[in-house]
Amino acid sequence: MKEHYDVVVIGAGPGGYVAAIRAAQLGLDVAVVEEAELGGVCLNWGCIPTKALLRNAEVVSLLDEGKTFGFSVEGVEIDFGAAIDRSRKVSQRLVKGVSFLMRKNDIDVVEGAGTLSTAHTVEVALNDGETQTLKAKNVIIATGARARTIPGIEIDGERVMTYRQAIVLRDLPESVVVVGAGPIGMEFAHVWSSYGADVTVVEMMSRILPLEEPDVSQQVARAFRRRKVNMMTDARVEAIEVGSDGAQLTISGEKGEQTLEAERVLVAIGVQPNSQGMGLEEVGVENDRGHILIDDHMRTNVRDSEGAIYAIGDVTGKLALAHVASAQGIVAAETIAGAETKTLDYEAMPRCTYCQPQVASFGITQAEAEERGHEVKIGQFPFRANGKALGLGNYDGFVKIVADAGSGEILGAHLVGPEVTELLPELVLARTWELTPEEITRAVHAHPTLSESLAEAAHAVFSEAIQA
Ligand SMILES: Cc1cc2nc3c(=O)[nH]c(=O)nc-3n(C[C@H](O)[C@H](O)[C@H](O)COP(=O)(O)OP(=O)(O)OC[C@H]3O[C@@H](n4cnc5c(N)ncnc54)[C@H](O)[C@@H]3O)c2cc1C
Repeated sequence: MKEHYDVVVIGAGPGGYVAAIRAAQLGLDVAVVEEAELGGVCLNWGCIPTKALLRNAEVVSLLDEGKTFGFSVEGVEIDFGAAIDRSRKVSQRLVKGVSFLMRKNDIDVVEGAGTLSTAHTVEVALNDGETQTLKAKNVIIATGARARTIPGIEIDGERVMTYRQAIVLRDLPESVVVVGAGPIGMEFAHVWSSYGADVTVVEMMSRILPLEEPDVSQQVARAFRRRKVNMMTDARVEAIEVGSDGAQLTISGEKGEQTLEAERVLVAIGVQPNSQGMGLEEVGVENDRGHILIDDHMRTNVRDSEGAIYAIGDVTGKLALAHVASAQGIVAAETIAGAETKTLDYEAMPRCTYCQPQVASFGITQAEAEERGHEVKIGQFPFRANGKALGLGNYDGFVKIVADAGSGEILGAHLVGPEVTELLPELVLARTWELTPEEITRAVHAHPTLSESLAEAAHAVFSEAIQA
């Protein structure tokens, strides 16, 4: 292990480990400091284990569709704990993969907590109790974020949980209140309700998935209501009282105050940055309420002739998404190496929620486009007019493209329905390389595929959809 590096990365989540690999590919000497698990929240507690659970939920949900597909099942035993076990295995497999990638790229992994003592010195409190000093021309802070909590409400990890406890909870709760109807809350609500738990979602805003296009929120709300998920919007959790066998929540809303009781509560109201207590203030790194401030190349304000301190991922508070962290990591590494890079358009970043129906979007909504003064053209195509979706028996939802009427620029895309998280990248690619809806229609889409709905929505921008 060396003492002097071109780059020391603090944190090995999808931001940090990807930045490290890209820097190593570009010929730099790299070390990564990680106090917990390689892969960070994403691989261990977030993206990956939730997606494994959602697959289990999908399989279990099919058991309710015997009438549609012509089967009946009796005496089936469903083991929720086994779903959790499978999700842990999937996570562990990927984490091992990251460890392999570190070795393959000659990246030194230092197991411990990193603190900056100067702009070029990282002190590591090693997990084995020792300390180690690493010198670096450049430091990339990729320390991520943790669950945000409600002031005055204690997370006991038992009755009142964050995702950290929920993701390893092997006993299916009989009843659960999910506080927050963003992607994390909706995904857990979907998993538990698919297994038969009595789920209530409480959202402070006027609709679930409040950052999505309103029609998308409506479509998902309809599907959740059909599955008997209780959804309370314009509702705020005021207090939670924990008893021996459950929790009682006081909720205020349009109808005044009411109480809810449940075996468990999941608080899923967003994340807060991990930036305290690691020397950032001492070395003068600027932040805004804990989010480290960066420029387009992920540089903080601390720079000199030798190098700079960079920050990427959730700790920067841009978009708390794994692929954004990774994309920022690549830009940071390329900037450090002096290689060609492309700055990020945060508005074009894909945002996905993997409940059923799935939700995928980027860019701005129709209303936001109009507020910004665009004359917009909308192309919308329903999956019920798509042969593949009908064959799958999964045809709720639509593709909506928001385009500027004059230039044809794709301002936003809003998808809800089957496998839309896999369909979105085509539209992201179009937006990134400034293709217009007309150009999308000229790419021939295979038949029958769900992707034909993208071409149809692009045709619909000119009121020329063929199949609807
Ligand atoms: C339940 C859930 C589901 C999610 N699903 C998705 C999804 O489907 N798609 C998606 O894009 N995003 C998803 N996310 C968000 C995603 O997990 C994060 O955006 C992503 O992990 C951020 O990556 P990061 O590298 O910035 O930080 P993290 O993944 O948080 O990694 C930071 C790492 O830094 C380490 N660290 C912190 N401080 C120090 C220190 N001082 N010294 C050493 N190490 C330190 C931590 O131990 C951690 O391993 C989900 C999140 C949750 C909670």
